[in-house]
Amino acid sequence: MYVVVEGIDTAGKSTQLELLQKKHQNAIFTKEPGGTNIGIKLRQMALNGEAKSKIAEMFLFLADRAEHIEEVIVTNKEKTVISDRSMISGIAYASLFPLEKMIELNLLATNNILPTHVILLELSPQELKYRLSQKENDAIELRGIDYLINIQNRMKQTITKLGINHIFIDASLKIEEIEKQIEDFLNE
Ligand code: C5P
Repeated sequence: MYVVVEGIDTAGKSTQLELLQKKHQNAIFTKEPGGTNIGIKLRQMALNGEAKSKIAEMFLFLADRAEHIEEVIVTNKEKTVISDRSMISGIAYASLFPLEKMIELNLLATNNILPTHVILLELSPQELKYRLSQKENDAIELRGIDYLINIQNRMKQTITKLGINHIFIDASLKIEEIEKQIEDFLNE
């Protein structure tokens, strides 16, 4: 089982991943970008804005993903792997590039390996606005509501286009309610 938790910044992924970690002690927990040794370096380069070229930056994320799939996902294919982000984020956040093109490049990077379960924590523009306002000094805030809602829409389109087994959960629900929906989905 290759489970991924997805969502835009402030959706509450980290909280749910911590809860999953307590309950699924035999699962392998990983993340993208930065889930491998090479990935740690690539993450730093990609997120620090070191690359002048946006195309180079996009390829850094793809390199991270290819390594992560090979080193973590394929290696542990008999186990339950739970990942913080995946190609879904990769495709969505590369919003300068057309969705279809990003799907094609990501399938090349992942050797056509798709998550088996996607949990998307979804925020309304109103809730996102509120959460960003609570994070005054955070760089994420600079990205803005329209930007992040567009990324979230791209995430949903990607999941639907690829036909991946998924659940979209209202991220404004109580933590315990979200936790329950995730467990029910994974136990199905
Ligand atoms: O979720 P995480 O803390 O790993 O993400 C770090 C930052 O990288 C987030 O602000 C997210 O918006 C950004 N990101 C990105 N492109 C990706 C994955 C994450 O810009 N493919």
